[in-house]
Formats: sequence, C-alpha cells, structure tokens
Amino acid sequence: MTSKIERMTVTTVALPVTTVRNHGIGSVGGEILNVLVKLETADGLAGWGEASPWPAFTGTAEGTAGALDVHLSPLVVGRPASHVSRIMTDAEAALVGHPEAKAALEMALYDLMGLELGVSVSDLLGGRHRDELPLSVSIANPNFDEDLELAERITNDGVRMFKIKTGVAGHDFDIMRLEKLKKLYPDVDIRVDYNQGLTPLEALKFVPDIDTFEPGFIEQPVRAPNWEVMKTIRAAIRSPLVADESVFTPFDALRAAKEGIADAFSIKIMKSGGMRKGQEIASIGAANGMPGYGGDMFETGLAHLAGVHMCASTPNISLGCEFYQATYYLETDLLAEPFPVANGKITVPTTPGLGIAMDEDKVRHFTVGQKT
Ligand code: MG
Repeated sequence: MTSKIERMTVTTVALPVTTVRNHGIGSVGGEILNVLVKLETADGLAGWGEASPWPAFTGTAEGTAGALDVHLSPLVVGRPASHVSRIMTDAEAALVGHPEAKAALEMALYDLMGLELGVSVSDLLGGRHRDELPLSVSIANPNFDEDLELAERITNDGVRMFKIKTGVAGHDFDIMRLEKLKKLYPDVDIRVDYNQGLTPLEALKFVPDIDTFEPGFIEQPVRAPNWEVMKTIRAAIRSPLVADESVFTPFDALRAAKEGIADAFSIKIMKSGGMRKGQEIASIGAANGMPGYGGDMFETGLAHLAGVHMCASTPNISLGCEFYQATYYLETDLLAEPFPVANGKITVPTTPGLGIAMDEDKVRHFTVGQKT
C-alpha cells in the first residue's frame, strides 16, 4: 500500500515552439497549451502527468484543465497511487471522453507509485521488453528548405526514420519532397502521414502515387469516420496503411481489426486515455497481426516518458516512436535533464517512476493558469 494523495495541482503552461508545422487537418505554431498534473503525498513525494490537447484532434486545454480540476480530482485525493486501476475505472465512469486529462492523471499516478515502490513505470507496466526505442522525426514545415536543414541535423544525430506530413500543400509538393528525401537519404525509413488531409476522391487518386515510393507506411489519408475509404485504399496499395485518428479506444481498435481498415495502429496515450489503454489496443493488434507505432501529440519530455515506458513494456508496439518534440520542436523542455535521445534512439530510463524529474522553475516560468 502506498501513501494517500493529499493534493492535486492542475497547471496550464504555454510553451513556445520553434517553427510552424502543418498537419493535414490543421497547423501548429507560436505557443502550445499543455496541462500538467502534480499529485503530492504527506511524505513529500510528487508524481507528475501531462496532457497535450490539440483542439483539431483530441480536445482543448480549457476542457482538459476543467476535467481534471472539477471531475477527476475528487476521485484521487485521499486515495493511494497504488489504486490506479480502480481510480482510472472510476474516471471512465465519471467522465465521458477527455482522454488527455485521463492520460495525465494515469501518468501522475504511475509516476508516484513508481517513486514510492522504487521501480520504473515500465516495470509496473509489465517489465521492459526493449531498452531503446528507434526515433522518428516528422517533416512538416511549410518551408521545405528549413526541413532539409532539419533532415541534415537529425541524420547527423543518427535518426533513421522520417515521417513526412502530407496532404497540406498539394500533391506535387508531397511528391517533390518524397523524391528529394529518398534520393538524399536512401538508408532512412521514410513514412508518410496525411493526418486526414485528403478527401476520399483525392485519396483514391493520390495515395497510389505515394505507394510507388515504397514508404515504410502510409498513415490516415482520410477523415477519421471514412472507414470504407480506408478499406478501399488499403486494397489498392502495397505499403502498410496505419490508422491514427480513426482509432482512439480499444473498442475502435477491435472494430478496425474486424473490418480490416488498416495494417497497423498509431497508439497515443492522448487518444486512448493512458498507457494501460494503449497496451489494450496493442494487444488487440497483436491478436490480429497488426503492430503498433508509438505516436504522440505536442508533448514535453514528461508525456514522452510515459509513451516511452508504454512502448518499452509492450512487445507489439514495434514500429518505433515519434517522441521528438522535446528535443527537436519545443524551444525548451520542462524536464530537469535532457530527454534521453542519442544516435537516433531513446534510452528507456530505469530509475523509479517516469525516471526524470521536472524542472519546477521552468514550469513556473511558463505557467498561465493553476488550480489546486
Ligand atoms: Mg498521425
């Protein structure tokens, strides 16, 4: 039994990013709003969680902060972190949706429980299956010359996976970037992600062209509910088709596997509502021969670490991960030490909890709202 949680603090931070990035259904730039959860016990330990909502995809920072402060906080205060499974079941019953808020809460509970028990979160999630995760970095800048500089920088750092964000500035732009990057980096595994950016008719016309470049996979060409079109595209191409926005929950994954809309899942804790639900999706995929890819949102190193522990402890999340924002996109991360990337791979922390402490001075510096 671990100690009772005495206090939950919900903090909204505004974090500056380095460039604009285009993603099928919308663009991101300037500042992003993320929501942090801090759970404290009487003995002075603190567990941290982070939500990274995107209004065009999962939800808003305002909704996330309200969900945590008003609806989820009463389920947590006075209970021990080791009740995480019961607390998350209660959270599911008390509040529909809001997966980012639930992910942040679950992350903070696991971080705290790991600190109290002296074990890492990946050990709590089943034990490490991998010690390192290959990192993919996204090519999403409307200014392709800047992305060519990024590609040079990341390949020099050892990164061997790119994901080109397509379907934003026209098919010719997508073909041009694919041709150029394939030629410059023949040993890089280049994947493509449309983020729902095409209409069904565009997708039927354009995606087979992209398929001829033999990308590692093609992700979510059409809007989330266009399941029939996903099936038609899948039948028309040889490259694996990945479902991202079409699959948030284990229920979605089960239906997607039954209906054959994709070959693999992008698994994100901000969609599933936490690491355990992400593992459930991976298990459904495993039973159907569908591997998972470690996806993310515009997260700091904190939420990245939760994704890292989930991927490390889940054999079927085998297609690498994209936890690159803390290193290559945010102006500053909120962790006290650099996010652990070297030679294109993330080293899974082995120290208790999520494994790296928060820099609380930085958190205060970027705070725009707080509730306790
Ligand atoms: Mg995606």
